[in-house]
Amino acid sequence: MTTSVQTELALGELRDSLRGPLLFPGDDSFEEATLLWNGLIEKSPALAVQPTGTADVVAAVEFARDQRLPLSVRGGAHNVGGTAVADGGLVLDMSRLRGVLVDPEARTATAQAGCLLGDVDRETQLHGLATPLGFISKVGLAGLTLGGGLGYLTRRFGWTVDNLLEVEIVTADGMVRRANAEENADLFWAIRGAGANFGVVTSFTLRLHEVGPTVYGGLIAWPFERADEILGAYRAFTADAPRELAVWMVVLRAPPAPFVPEDWRGKRVCAMPVCYSGDLDRVDEVLAPIRALGDPVFDLLAEQPYTQVQSYLDDSEPEGNHYYWKTEYLAELCDEFLSVWPSLAAECPIPEAQIGLLHLGGALGERDEDDGAVGNRDVRYACGVIGGWEPGEPGADGFPGWVRDAWQRIRRFSTGGNYINFQTADEDDERVRATYGAQFDRLVDVKTKYDPGNLFRSNRNIRPR
Ligand SMILES: Cc1cc2nc3c(=O)[nH]c(=O)nc-3n(C[C@H](O)[C@H](O)[C@H](O)COP(=O)(O)OP(=O)(O)OC[C@H]3O[C@@H](n4cnc5c(N)ncnc54)[C@H](O)[C@@H]3O)c2cc1C
Repeated sequence: MTTSVQTELALGELRDSLRGPLLFPGDDSFEEATLLWNGLIEKSPALAVQPTGTADVVAAVEFARDQRLPLSVRGGAHNVGGTAVADGGLVLDMSRLRGVLVDPEARTATAQAGCLLGDVDRETQLHGLATPLGFISKVGLAGLTLGGGLGYLTRRFGWTVDNLLEVEIVTADGMVRRANAEENADLFWAIRGAGANFGVVTSFTLRLHEVGPTVYGGLIAWPFERADEILGAYRAFTADAPRELAVWMVVLRAPPAPFVPEDWRGKRVCAMPVCYSGDLDRVDEVLAPIRALGDPVFDLLAEQPYTQVQSYLDDSEPEGNHYYWKTEYLAELCDEFLSVWPSLAAECPIPEAQIGLLHLGGALGERDEDDGAVGNRDVRYACGVIGGWEPGEPGADGFPGWVRDAWQRIRRFSTGGNYINFQTADEDDERVRATYGAQFDRLVDVKTKYDPGNLFRSNRNIRPR
């Protein structure tokens, strides 16, 4: 029997065992099932499965393992490195699994692995509940959670994985396992920050907190010429801000949006995306240091639904554009950093670039460093040089190089850690090791136990021994 005949037989068995579609290049839905958010990454997968339940996931995992095919899992496809799709491999596209079950009494939500962030916020907010998730509603719950997860509620409630109670996961041996603090506790620990490495997670159970349904937030911006003053004020008020207040800071060119005065469109501004999820009676007092800066180019801060604050930036980084970025974690905003940071923005040749700062800290530091693989509990800010451009933009060949050079100028301020979910395809094993620091060897142990053949390697990879 020839190999191709064996493969045909195996494919026939796979087709028979699936309830969801098995797709090949040229099939109607193939492109949609394997599309990546980052248009810069080109991959040619061989086939895709769109599971309708855990049994389909088991069949696909066993097929890829037995056929020695590269396997990848596609959640929201937003990973900047394009790890959701394996070249020449089988893509498990989870997009048909988007159910969310909320238990308002127990304050938990169980979400299937194909959910986007907006799917979860939408259902939990029916009950005035939420868990910390990112601030672009089209990002996938799975990828975000498995790498740690951060957003406007992180200062109050920690990493997303600090709120993860349980997962269902299909491991490389085809077993369906439950992992939580008691059952398969080693696996659960590893999943909480390095989770793309150990199997296909099919559902996530998350702890919920009272949030909203309205919060105070939106976007406010000032001229870039005031960057030194604005940054100084940002450092001062984030130093003792209440945990209910999350303020990011981004230097970018103002988009041609209706809310931007016409003469400001395309000009550089210092913008602050804001979310205050505390007592609304205190909002004036809490936002006073921001409003005291005066004379904004625009001020869209207002009371609004939490789901709106979680989605109004959705179109700021459209799918299919090219993206390349570098990020670091910071323990503080020192004088030297503040003197370097605005110059990066001033010199940036990429029209749609964003030079960004996220304020973290708060609840992150309340747990032990080894509470989950995610670590990095000393981080108080994340900073990033975010390059984004349309395909074919003049000078684009040089943009990644510029981002790398700019990154070298901010690396020396890093805690030494960085966020695994922000790593690009060209970051090496040392970067992965640096992310996990002292937890790395323990992760290798868990990887060796559950995935000794490294079936799950289309990710920021932890190699088995
Ligand atoms: C525009 C934009 C905004 C962002 N904002 C935030 C933010 O606010 N907060 C934040 O924390 N991060 C943010 N991120 C980063 C984001 O967390 C990562 O890009 C993350 O990988 C996206 O998850 P995904 O499911 O969309 O990605 P995918 O590309 O589908 O998957 C990412 C990785 O996870 C693996 N994976 C996916 N599903 C599963 C599964 N079910 N089981 C096992 N492995 C799986 C994939 O194989 C892949 O390696 C943002 C990214 C973008 C592009």
